Amino acid sequence: MAVPLLDLRPQYHALKNEILAEVAELCESQRFILGPKVEKLEEEISDYCQAAGACGVTSGSDALIIALMAEGIGRGDEVITTTFTFFATVGAISRVGATPVFADIDPKTFNIDPKSIEAKITPRTKAIIPVHLFGQAADMDPIMALAEKHNLIVIEDACQAIGAEYKGKRVGAIGDYGCFSFFPSKNLGCFGDGGIVTVKDAEKAKLLKIFRNHGQSETYIHRYIGGNFRLDALQAAILSIKLRHLDDWTKARQSNAAEYETLFAQAGLESVLTLPSKADYEVRHIYNQYSILVHDGKRDALKAHLAAKNIGCAIYYPLPLHLQECFQSLGGKPGDCPVAEKVANEILALPIYPEATAENRREVVAAIQEFFA
Ligand SMILES: *Cc1c(COP(=O)(O)O)cnc(C)c1O
Repeated sequence: MAVPLLDLRPQYHALKNEILAEVAELCESQRFILGPKVEKLEEEISDYCQAAGACGVTSGSDALIIALMAEGIGRGDEVITTTFTFFATVGAISRVGATPVFADIDPKTFNIDPKSIEAKITPRTKAIIPVHLFGQAADMDPIMALAEKHNLIVIEDACQAIGAEYKGKRVGAIGDYGCFSFFPSKNLGCFGDGGIVTVKDAEKAKLLKIFRNHGQSETYIHRYIGGNFRLDALQAAILSIKLRHLDDWTKARQSNAAEYETLFAQAGLESVLTLPSKADYEVRHIYNQYSILVHDGKRDALKAHLAAKNIGCAIYYPLPLHLQECFQSLGGKPGDCPVAEKVANEILALPIYPEATAENRREVVAAIQEFFA
């Protein structure tokens, strides 16, 4: 039986009537840009993330760009981030004209290694962007301590981590900004592109709202050169409905992960692969992805074996960003970030979405066991 990596249809079908009623209401109102639905979502997400405010935007990528813009970060500035992330984290830094500086990762959590940050701080450094990869918080205490010591802005890339916690605190308002994506495959996804920025200081949400609307402080009066980063009312309305179910979906992801742990332990595969490990600090892991490490150069062969059996799996991410062609002018070379380079060769994500069944997980583990037999 085929096991998809992700199937979004069960979630839609469970909420279909409610969602279509909201869509119909919005179509009748013809109020598609910003407005009360977006304001309502901003309040809900701000509360959910224990933040002081939020600004709905066009995507997670734009959330990162607008946070950098609001801080006036640009040409001549350096921003330190992880080399092991989705492209958008680093693309945002380049898009505002600043220079990305790559740090290596922790081998257990795959998140930016705080120890790798300090040596990269220069007088030009303006910000740090930690990413809460796969739904597990980066080690924020040492990052915040460095930021305080060197007077740096912290922008959390929480695009994969809505509802994740670090030592009891929700991600998104531990640093100055939290950037979230509502891309359909994220834990809280909309019906297209969307995103939001959460803030620790409510004044910054006001500033972001000016930037997202072409820098207008009042209609046709432009204080800044902003852009069109406005979240659609339709997406906001759908997200408000889905948000009410997010904690149940997170619980299902967590219990799916626990079940994998039991199944893999029974299969006795410890010597050939490593399961996702919990951080040494207290976290609420929301499992946007469940990524194992496959040792001894066998990752690609295992991936092909699973694909042949119609079992969904994917590599996030095959090439660290310091080695990407588009960033070669920054001078990155193999060996610069050895942990990330090793993880990129071994990592493989397995189906973890809330509605995947116990039967699905047994099939995934049996297929992996068969490969190593
Ligand atoms: C998805 C993602 C983004 C970008 O979000 P979009 O909504 O697709 O623009 C940025 N950073 C990380 C870590 C992501 O996973």
